[in-house]
Parts: sequence; C-alpha cells; structure tokens
Amino acid sequence: MLKVLPSNVANLIAAGEVVQRPASVVKELVENAVDAGATTISVIIENAGKTSIEVIDDGCGMTREEAILSFQRHATSKIANAEDLESIMTYGFRGEALASIAAVAHVTMRTRKADSQTGVQVHIDGGSDNISCDEVAIPVGTRISVRDLFFNIPARRKFLKSESSEFRQIISEFSRVAISHWDLSVRLVHNGKDIYNLRKANNQKQRIVEIEGKSLDKKLIDVSFESELFSLKGFISRPEDAKKNSSQYFFVNGRFFRSPFFYKAILKGYDNLIPDGLAPSFFLFFNVAPNTVDVNIHPAKTEVKFENESQMFEIITALVREALGKGTFVPSIDFEHDTLPDVPIAQNFRFPRASSAGDLHPSAPAPAYTATVVRPFNKGEISSSVGGYSELFESRGVSMTENDSIIQIFGKYIVTTVKSGLLIINIKRARERIFYEKYLKNLDDSTPISHQVLFPSSVELSPMHYSLLMENPQALGLMGFDIVPFGPFSVAVNGVPEGFGTDENSAKEAIDAILAMLEDTGSLSIIKADERQRVARKMAYAAAAMTPKRLLIAEARSLVDALFACVEPQITPSGKKIMEILTEEDIDKKI
Ligand code: ADP
Ligand code: MG
Repeated sequence: MLKVLPSNVANLIAAGEVVQRPASVVKELVENAVDAGATTISVIIENAGKTSIEVIDDGCGMTREEAILSFQRHATSKIANAEDLESIMTYGFRGEALASIAAVAHVTMRTRKADSQTGVQVHIDGGSDNISCDEVAIPVGTRISVRDLFFNIPARRKFLKSESSEFRQIISEFSRVAISHWDLSVRLVHNGKDIYNLRKANNQKQRIVEIEGKSLDKKLIDVSFESELFSLKGFISRPEDAKKNSSQYFFVNGRFFRSPFFYKAILKGYDNLIPDGLAPSFFLFFNVAPNTVDVNIHPAKTEVKFENESQMFEIITALVREALGKGTFVPSIDFEHDTLPDVPIAQNFRFPRASSAGDLHPSAPAPAYTATVVRPFNKGEISSSVGGYSELFESRGVSMTENDSIIQIFGKYIVTTVKSGLLIINIKRARERIFYEKYLKNLDDSTPISHQVLFPSSVELSPMHYSLLMENPQALGLMGFDIVPFGPFSVAVNGVPEGFGTDENSAKEAIDAILAMLEDTGSLSIIKADERQRVARKMAYAAAAMTPKRLLIAEARSLVDALFACVEPQITPSGKKIMEILTEEDIDKKI
C-alpha cells in the first residue's frame, strides 16, 4: 500500500542527514547564533554532548510564533524564494536543523526579542507533534538546550565514538566558527571546564593563535589578493615550519570548507620546500559573490563548488609563491628555476639541533641505542671494536676484517671495510630500521623503554591536541613516552621514545609525531597486533628524521652494532635498501 509517511517518521529519516553526532548539533546551533547576529556565544557541553549541549546567544531572538515555527521542517527566515538561494550569506537556509534536532533529542528553547518584555520557553520532545510553550523572564537572545541526543534511536547512540573522539569533533566545529568570526566573544565549556573563553579578538590572527596555539604566532605569513572574481586574505606557514599535524582551514564567505583541489594549489606554491610527511598550515578566507559558489549540497558535508575554480587554483599557487618569495628565509632559492639545489630539501628546513660533534657537550650522554641493543651473544666474546662482530657479520654474509675503521661521509653514510669490499650504510635508514624493531618490541612486550630527559620540557598544546594526547596514557607509555599533564593544556615531557633526542625541540618533535599518528588513527587505546607495525613504522620514520648531521664515532659504531642486531638489517620497514657493499670488482670497473 502506498502512503505518505507520518511526519515524525519523515523527520527521523531527515534527521539522520543533518544530525550525525553531537558535533553536528553544536555546528547547527552555533551557526544559528551567528546568523541571528549574536556578539557573544557560549557552548556548554556535558559528556561530549551525549548528555547535554547548550548554546546561548545574545542575538535577535524570536517571537512566540517564530519560536514554535522554527521547529517545523523547512521553516526558515533566511530565504523566501528561489532567487534568494543565489545570494545566501547566512550559514542556514534549509530550515531543517531545528526540526531534525528536535526529532532525536529533548529540546528546550528559551528566546526573547529585544523589543519584547518577556521571553518564551518552548519544550519539544522527539518531534514537533509534542510541543509545549510558556512565558519566561530571560535576557534578550536565545538559549537552546539539547539533552539525551538519540534517546529514541538507540542504534545511533551506540554508533557514537569514544567520548574524547566525539569531543574533538565538537572542538573542531567550534574552532571553525570561532576562527572565522574573530569579532565575536566565544566560549566552550566541557564538563564544567573552560576549554576556550575568548573575548572579541582585535584581529583575525589573534583569534587563530588563541584557537590553534601560541606556537603559530610568529610563523604565519600574510597573504592577500583582490580581484573582480574573488578576494582572498589569510595566512600560510613558512616552509620550515611545516608540521606533521598542521592546521588547515579554508573558508568561503565565512563558511569552512574542504578542498583537496585548492590544497594541491597551495602545495604547488610551496614547490618542493615541504619535506615528505609534513604539511604546511594555512588559514585562507575567500570572499566571492554568493552566486558564484554553490554551498547547496548535503547539509553535513563541507565541500563547495566554485564557478571559477581553475582560475582560483592558479591564483592561489601564485600567491603562495609570492608570499614565500617575499620573505628573507629562502633568499637562495630561485622559484623560476626548475632545479632546486642538489641538497635534499629536508635537510635544509628540518629540525635544527646540535648539528656536529663539536656542538655536543663533551659529557653528552651516550646515544640511546647502545644500552638496549639486543646482543645475540654475550659480552665476554667480543671486543669493543666493530671488528669484534665479525662472526655476526659473517652470519649475515658480510664479513669484516680486523681493525676496521669507520668513517662518515656527506653526513649521510657510514663507510667501513669488510672482507668483500667497502660496506656503505645509509645512516638515516639504519636508524629507521633499528627504531622500528625496537618500538615493535616495546609494543609487543609491554615493556616500555623511555629515554628520560634531563630537564623535562613543557609543551603547550591546543585543547584539541591535548585531548588527543591525554586520551590514553598507557599506549603512550608503551611507545616510550613519559608525559604528565602540566597546566591547563600543557604537558610536561619527562621521557620520549628512544631515537628522539632529549632537548626541548626533540620532545616537541616526538609529540608532533605521535599526534600526527593519533590524528590518523583517532585513538591508540587498544593497539591491535596489526596496528603495532604501523605505529612502530611511523614513529621510527619520525625518529629517523631526527638523525643528527654528524654522529660521534662511538655513536657510529653502536649504530652499526645495533643494525646488525636487527632481524632484517638490509632494508627499512618500507622496503628501502639500507646498505650496499662495493666489491673489488665494482671498484676495478671504476679505476
Ligand atoms: P535555518 O538556519 O536553515 O534557517 P534552522 O532549523 O537552523 O534553519 O532554524 C530555523 C529558523 O529558526 C531560522 O531560520 C531562524 O529564523 C530561527 N532561529 C534558529 N536559531 C535561532 C537563534 N539562535 N536566534 C534567532 N533565531 C533563530
Ligand atoms: Mg540553521
């Protein structure tokens, strides 16, 4: 039998599109507050929004009739006809959000217009069929409380992720609006704790730094462009400040969007200046005529379609290039030139640290990998020189002669002689292999080996990263981290995985590496067997990137030792060759 669905069923189905998780409710309610012209918006959350989400604004408010009507599907004050769709500057226009939210939660709205003496309280439970209305004394504006989200759809509730994961999504929705609307006072409170409490900022940059962390402050370069087609303002990070977990925001007419396409344009602008595995931060604000952008897609999606996409692409690339070229930090690089200097870029821009043996304090602690190398034979059998390992080398088809000396060349390779010729080892790759096996072992054995730092450094994080990091201390412990909360959103780093140095910069790098991974996986709470390899591989890759420009001779020796103690010393976890022997024949060919 064919029939029209009852409105409560239709609403439930439609609600699925708009309200997928607590963060979607936050997004819709905060956007409504902005649309209502609020200057102050507070978001108060309990249990990552599963129990309660409350949004309070001082915007225009609603009359009694409007308040009731606002919960009707397709009730909107923002457009009246099809032409209006062409000129939308508000977030909302579908008139679906409140109806959808009310279909899946207990909702109470209190609202008052400026010209009205009293306000109205509307209570609605699981859809607009069940609505009650009272007069109340309240300040001008609107306060909406959404409790027990998905109370009537248990399957949906079960489908929600961990509290900290849901909470991070809320932070990210909140951040998008807060960054775009820096001239508003915004506040986010979770379980009674202020996550953000920000007064109207003085400028865009101030708000970005407040949300994303002080560390960005000095790192942003202005970009700005104006044309008939569109205008673009914002900031990009310097190439040498590229990070594993960078902040990336596109906005059009104040609305956040994602665009892999424009991201390509940005990367193109950086040419080859961004090392593999790192990414630039950017905050780009486009303004276009509303009829040249289509935001009228799925309500929960963040893609938009621009009419002049390909021109915009070219301009973005050019703009990034220009912004980078103008500064004084890449003076030697000529962007018009196809060939960049022969040196791998990564070395130029990465990880400043004690760069030569001479820089190291004489009493600097011995490198980490000496102490815990798994030695397949007991100490009595071997001398301290590499020559003493000949048995081991032989067992691997590489036999060493007595009294071999070790030299380093190009800051990249260790060279030593073996019976069959010259053994050349790629230092960075060797480190990657060594730490990979070590981390894997730590994760398998549940016996963390952390590299205790001499002077614990405190690392300040954004609330987002703080929550990500604090989610599971045990997993971090297994990786070799020793981290404790320190201040509101800072951590004290007492220990880092072996392979990362113990200076402050290394601690930050180690934290960045684990954060980048956590951002991928969401959580490390249970490291399943097959995930361990991935975690170990990524962290080893990051540790290898921290390779000092020059090793002490003792470090070089113990690196060789540690490498040959590995299960697979020949190749990196990602399959790259670590060593090569130049045989007599090879050399004869040359000379
Ligand atoms: P949309 O935002 O797409 O119009 P919503 O369902 O989000 O649809 O809201 C419906 C209507 O309710 C809005 O068009 C607006 O008129 C009114 N409204 C919602 N939230 C607020 C608020 N915080 N302050 C004032 N009016 C609001
Ligand atoms: Mg809306």
